[in-house]
Amino acid sequence: MRDVLLGLGGNLGDPALSIREALRRLEGRGVEILLVSSLYRTAPWGPVPQPDFLNACAAGETELEPEALLLAAKAIERELGRVEGPRWGPRAVDLDILALGDLALDTPDLTLPHPRLTERAFVLVPLAEIVPDRVIEGRTVAEWRAETDGSGVARIGPLR
Ligand code: ADP
Ligand code: MG
Repeated sequence: MRDVLLGLGGNLGDPALSIREALRRLEGRGVEILLVSSLYRTAPWGPVPQPDFLNACAAGETELEPEALLLAAKAIERELGRVEGPRWGPRAVDLDILALGDLALDTPDLTLPHPRLTERAFVLVPLAEIVPDRVIEGRTVAEWRAETDGSGVARIGPLR
């Protein structure tokens, strides 16, 4: 059994519903969700004009191995209507594995901890709400959070 941190987001359709549904489906596939952050709104960045993103994070436990967890996450993204589009483009739901126990992996399909975790305010702000003391890459989530500009990440309210 390992602890797992998940980052969820989306900006098409009803992203809050998609995020809740993604968590429910993860629970049906061997991930016990223990903590869920509030829901946050973030302006998109990058070259593609698109609606604001809604984001949240969750923490839990799983006996799934990393490859199986990634397959489950990708299957749920597809089930919830994610279609191939431009990188950084709009999506119904994006489900990222932020960390799985203290595994360090770097394969073509899966990097753990998630390589952009420590620089993304829209991940660190919700994550710091639920697991501020969790250590990732030598620092606590709260410390990483304090180093990012979270001013663009607005709390909307409870996710559920
Ligand atoms: P991003 O999440 O950075 O916006 P994408 O969701 O489009 O980008 O990235 C998709 C690919 O990233 C997936 O096909 C997956 O194989 C790969 N990937 C690598 N590491 C991870 C991880 N820790 N969690 C989720 N996907 C990952
Ligand atoms: Mg992703």
